[in-house]
Amino acid sequence: MNEDKESVVCPGVYAGFVSDGLIAWYRENKRDLPWRNTGDPYKIWISEIILQQTRVDQGLDYYSRFVSRFPDVFELAGAEEDEVLKYWQGLGYYSRARNLHASAKMIVEEYNGKFPEKYEDILHLKGVGEYTAAAIISFAWNRPYPTVDGNVFRFLSRLLAIEVPIDTGTGKKLFTETAGILMDEKQPGLFNQAMMEFGALQCVPVSPDCNNCPFVFKCMAYIARSVNLLPVKQGKTKVEDRYLYYFHIKQGGETYLEKRKGKGVWYNLYEFPVIESGSPLEFMELRMHPRFQEIFGDIKEPKFRLVLENKKHILSHRRLFASFYEVTVDADFLCQTLSGASDSLIRIPENTIDTYPTHRLMEIYLEGSFYS
Ligand code: SF4
Repeated sequence: MNEDKESVVCPGVYAGFVSDGLIAWYRENKRDLPWRNTGDPYKIWISEIILQQTRVDQGLDYYSRFVSRFPDVFELAGAEEDEVLKYWQGLGYYSRARNLHASAKMIVEEYNGKFPEKYEDILHLKGVGEYTAAAIISFAWNRPYPTVDGNVFRFLSRLLAIEVPIDTGTGKKLFTETAGILMDEKQPGLFNQAMMEFGALQCVPVSPDCNNCPFVFKCMAYIARSVNLLPVKQGKTKVEDRYLYYFHIKQGGETYLEKRKGKGVWYNLYEFPVIESGSPLEFMELRMHPRFQEIFGDIKEPKFRLVLENKKHILSHRRLFASFYEVTVDADFLCQTLSGASDSLIRIPENTIDTYPTHRLMEIYLEGSFYS
């Protein structure tokens, strides 16, 4: 396919036909989702952040629990970050929860708790990009900002046979402009919802239901038999392998957790002390690692038991391989060697571990009945 090829059809020709068709289809087929029954920008914001990287069916329970515990921006702003992360646990991409929390504080401090109504101000909130800002402002205040998510890219690329890659600046600009031209200006919020829902339920990635599609006779990709070739993507991000070696230290009824530092997606979540590497490490190599010395000092006769080996876990840009060692240590010795190893290390009763927000790999280990 020619990567620079725009549609041969001017989208303006399709404007009324497409918006009427989408809205009629939406009224018949839409899913009843809780965030569609509210005009509260706070709740719409929460739902959109959850749905950024989570499927609707998975996000539903999280949304209900989250808005039930934090029903408004004041409740969210006043909560401890650990509690917010705990409510997010299992959803992944934890920067979303941290950004929600930080933005809630900002709304309280800078806007007296009133959700900003200007597009530029909404865009200024942490974790809010152009799509999310457009969704909030069009759903809450019915303002004409097009929402172009993956479903919309797919539908428009097929309807108009647009071959410009969707993961390029040119592609994003073109598709946003196209959605704006097609938009029903009297009901932009409804139009946006309808187009996204159509892409999610009807014009799906594999085997779309073209035979029952209201646009089948005008769909350029269907006519050209290129439905399966659209949308076009330029390329995938390089995925890096990382090897994680966790130490579940057992000291009577207690264990140790560390709050993760740095800028990664698991920032501020709790996990067992860990050694990370860009390549696999044998146990002897682990013992020689400077971090091992930092954690265990010159421990003489440690009892290490490999409980879980090379558990694979995929993140958007990383392939993780995690191993978990259970380590039984002498009480006095542990106190001496671990003190000062890390200012984020905490010693806790094992039966309280569930109260700390953690990430999926730790959950897998803890759920695996290795833990008692
Ligand atoms: S005809 Fe098929 S490909 Fe074209 S818009 Fe409808 S469902 Fe999508």
